[in-house]
Amino acid sequence: IPRVRIAPSPTGEPHVGTAYIALFNYLFAKKHGGRFILRIEDTDASRSTREYETKVLDALRWCGLEWDEGPDKGGEYGPYRQSERKDIYRPFVDRIVDNGHGFACFCTPQRLDEMRAAQRAAGQPPKYDGHCLHLAAEEVKSRIAAGEPHVVRMKIPSEGSCKFTDAVYGEVEIPWDAVDMQVLLKADGMPTYHMANVVDDHLMRITHVARGEEWLASVPKHILIYRYLGLEPPVFMHLSLMKNADKSKLSKRKNPTSIPYYAGLGYLPEALMNFLGLFFIQIAEGEELLSMDDLIARFDTDNLSRAGAIFDIQKLDWLNGRWLRENLSEEEFLARVRQWALQGDRLTEGLRLAQSRIQTFGELPDLIGFLLKSDLKLTAAHFDRLKPKPADCLAIIKEVAPALETLPDWTAEAIEAELRAISERMDKKLRLFLPPLFVAVSGSARSLPLFDSMALLGRAAVRQRLKTARE
Ligand code: ATP
Ligand code: GLU
Repeated sequence: IPRVRIAPSPTGEPHVGTAYIALFNYLFAKKHGGRFILRIEDTDASRSTREYETKVLDALRWCGLEWDEGPDKGGEYGPYRQSERKDIYRPFVDRIVDNGHGFACFCTPQRLDEMRAAQRAAGQPPKYDGHCLHLAAEEVKSRIAAGEPHVVRMKIPSEGSCKFTDAVYGEVEIPWDAVDMQVLLKADGMPTYHMANVVDDHLMRITHVARGEEWLASVPKHILIYRYLGLEPPVFMHLSLMKNADKSKLSKRKNPTSIPYYAGLGYLPEALMNFLGLFFIQIAEGEELLSMDDLIARFDTDNLSRAGAIFDIQKLDWLNGRWLRENLSEEEFLARVRQWALQGDRLTEGLRLAQSRIQTFGELPDLIGFLLKSDLKLTAAHFDRLKPKPADCLAIIKEVAPALETLPDWTAEAIEAELRAISERMDKKLRLFLPPLFVAVSGSARSLPLFDSMALLGRAAVRQRLKTARE
């Protein structure tokens, strides 16, 4: 039976691109009576967190994309978290080295930097130059025995090209010359994405690999690893990436990409899946409103387009409206509104913060409405009433927006510390520094405490509001 997987790296907010690829795999599994596996690719310990992992699981579940095997539910081929599989990879790497297809590389990061800089200066793409490729076996042995830090790299054929068939792209040919001698095992003993990905797809009996087209160029490395290990590669299907309206790759700077952001704004998961599913099927006009079952029934891998899926929010809004009007009963509608208002504690927490700030309940909508609104409809007049001049307001927002991007923890305390630091750097008193941010985030200078409000809204919503305020 077909076995497919979604293999997210828990390094950031759950991405609609992950939902898009997951949906494809889910539909594929359901259509063909197969299994849908969730594997967490967290070999990059410096960027992966358990918190993001939980968010990814929650987000995929919210989408309705329940998996058959995964880190939280186990399965025959677990563990399903790569950081717990460290010992599994080593023998595969050893096999590649023992068979003469891999080699130890002792190059220091500094030498590699210099090498790449020289290549770039000469107008060449950066690529390992084979410095350690021909070290004598004795030397390698003694340097390893002496504890010298090293990685393991794979050898690449010196001529010819890698030819393979992709279910979407058809026949693909990539010259070996364009393929880097990929690191398979890092100095800390962890495998790289490429090594772990291939070994796990093999051990987890994955039959079809469907993922974003950004990975197409990596297929030669993967095919070579399979070959070096004497294994049969799976079928590859590379899906066109989602794009902004201007055809550039979907980016959070142009469109919100966080799944919880859309959940927070009150989109229905059914509508989001409907919207993403339309990229995988062909329909006539008027047939757009489709449930998950409809999508499964109409799913057909022969119809895949390479055109690129445009993330058109207006179409998503339109579909969401149709779902509300046409597919939900009155009771369901009310239940879903309740569920939405109470999710993520936005309303409850907002009410708690409001208790000491109102005289009657009637003041609540004005005070906490911004937590639930999709769009604040800000105008220049909102800022005109503030002490800082409009240009100063803009300068503050411009300084704060990128700083919040890189904040590791999204908590009220962390936000407060960061904003205080920026106000000092800009030499502005908090009394003058904070109001423009209050207005950008809540639409009013009199509102709930700013840091708590930002924490409750979430990074993606704050990003979007600061962006709107700048424009
Ligand atoms: P951004 O450019 O907004 O920072 P990113 O490329 O850094 O986005 P990642 O965090 O690297 O996003 O990606 C998270 C997951 O979402 C990855 O699995 C990636 O394959 C997928 N993804 C990212 N962008 C797209 C896209 N445009 N279409 C489909 N999938 C995408
Ligand atoms: N961890 C990779 C990602 O986040 C998975 C790529 C693949 O499916 O092979 O995109």
